[in-house]
Amino acid sequence: MRESPVDPRSLVQWAEGPPPQQPGFIELRRPMPGVPVRGVLLANDATQVYTHHLDGSSFACIGKENGCPGCGPQSSKRWRAYFPAFCPQSGRLFLVELTPNAVRSCPALLDSNTPRKGRWIILRRRGQKANSPIMAELGEGFRHFRPPEAFDVKDALIRIWRMSVIILPPPGRPPASC
Ligand SMILES: [Zn+2]
Repeated sequence: MRESPVDPRSLVQWAEGPPPQQPGFIELRRPMPGVPVRGVLLANDATQVYTHHLDGSSFACIGKENGCPGCGPQSSKRWRAYFPAFCPQSGRLFLVELTPNAVRSCPALLDSNTPRKGRWIILRRRGQKANSPIMAELGEGFRHFRPPEAFDVKDALIRIWRMSVIILPPPGRPPASC
């Protein structure tokens, strides 16, 4: 069989533009004393959830009946709300976290009559301790260019909580933590 030359241009994987950005790991930014968090909100509505705080890390409550490691005798659940946000200077996407205190200081953040998408949010600690209450402020709209699309907040949180795989106890048996 005679080998025929092939035009290399027909083999090369020419591209028609950059690949879509991978969602990757999206960080959660919390204010530190004297270091506020600023960002532009990418959604009107926050994702609300109950979490636990154990051994220095936070994770979502999955319910005592599912063997939630945080639902012990002296555990407490904390309400948190998350918005997708971005930084116009760096282009980075991140999550901002609202505490009950933050919402009390700025009820418009959860008020469905207030447009929030495209507006600045500023979170700062009221005090010098790492766990001082967080105060929130809703700023004016960001108008310089069109902000990116919002990412999936639940997907980003599942990665942050390292909860990609949850093995439930077999039905009919009490959870291991009982
Ligand atoms: Zn729990």
